[in-house]
Amino acid sequence: MPLMKSWIDSANDPACDFPLNNLPCGVFSVDDEDPRCGVAIGDQILDMTAAEEAGLVALTDAPLFADPWWNDLMEQGPAVWAAMRARLTALLEEGAAEREAVAPLLVPMSEATLHLPFAVSEYTDFYAGRHHAHNVGCMFRGPENALPPNWLHMPIGYNGRASSVCVSGTPIRRPWGQLKSPDHDAPAFLPSRRFDFELEIGAIVGTPSDGPLTVKQADAHLFGYVLLNDWSARDIQAWEYQPLGPFQAKATATSISPWIVMKAALDPFRIDTPPREVPLLDHLKDDGPGLYNIALRATLTPAGQPGTTITRTNYGEMYYSAPQQLAHHATAGSPMNVGDLLGSGTISGPTGPERGSMLELSWGGQEPLTLDSGDTRSFLLDGDVLTLEGHAQGDGYRIGFGRCSGEILPALDDPFAG
Ligand code: CA
Repeated sequence: MPLMKSWIDSANDPACDFPLNNLPCGVFSVDDEDPRCGVAIGDQILDMTAAEEAGLVALTDAPLFADPWWNDLMEQGPAVWAAMRARLTALLEEGAAEREAVAPLLVPMSEATLHLPFAVSEYTDFYAGRHHAHNVGCMFRGPENALPPNWLHMPIGYNGRASSVCVSGTPIRRPWGQLKSPDHDAPAFLPSRRFDFELEIGAIVGTPSDGPLTVKQADAHLFGYVLLNDWSARDIQAWEYQPLGPFQAKATATSISPWIVMKAALDPFRIDTPPREVPLLDHLKDDGPGLYNIALRATLTPAGQPGTTITRTNYGEMYYSAPQQLAHHATAGSPMNVGDLLGSGTISGPTGPERGSMLELSWGGQEPLTLDSGDTRSFLLDGDVLTLEGHAQGDGYRIGFGRCSGEILPALDDPFAG
């Protein structure tokens, strides 16, 4: 599919994340006004709440953009999602008849503050990247036992906390926690010294379900995707993770990018999951390409210094797709809700510079990275800004995700000091 041209010139720039082909969904505010729903187009945001009030976007009898989240639209299902995209395309394409009515509803993105684009009902994080699981397994258990025996048969996950999901730009406070150094007999309560990021893609459930789903059905329930950083305290994790998996190590924060890229915008970039190393059971078998060719990178910017790109990888490295993860999630009967967020798991590629976490990049701290500034890093330091970016590359345009960024703030004083 070629670039769809818009009368908003900035949307036709091949380097712009938000051409007419994209139309990602966000929530924004200007000055002290209440947040509203908006769609990114070029360097502008179309105010969807105002467009609906003006009668330019009438998808159902009831308003869908009266509240500052996209859950109401998501709940309507795929036919309404498609109708919205068709209507927005008609309003924003080159030569649009209603251009004069739409132009006053555009807000420059540079003047807007972006908020969480949807109400996160629940958050689940998976561990579905083959290279990441192998790397971490080697460090934690040795190469002989790197992959647990179940790993090639189903996507491993844990139930996280929706309450700590935040939007890009939110500062991240270094956590305190219970740590146990291999050199000491007793655990200690200290600020994490091995605080890390994880480069992931989040899939958003658009329509609810109550019972098992096939992989194909699961795909139809998904609304779109965001960049996701699963902040991780490795020293807390190493001590707590057995026998029930991550808990406080992952409870500090999970950052997501502010724009939901709808599944329809990514459709031209679908790719297959990698070849299966052992056959999957029927309920997890792919039914068509479930991944997307999305180039991803992570940049580390120390305070007052230029940034260094520390990772370049691709969403196509995942072993399990989001539809497979959602299908697995629903097998035992758990209802899935509008606004459920599913983290892919860390997306690492096969080589060193493609690793999606500091834990892997510095190999557990044994091989610190050298940044462009000459500084070295094994894990994140206070003042560091970690930024994720991603896009699918079309012919003369890109479907971009914008940025997912967070600055590390120093730990607070000991919360339990006398
Ligand atoms: Ca993770």
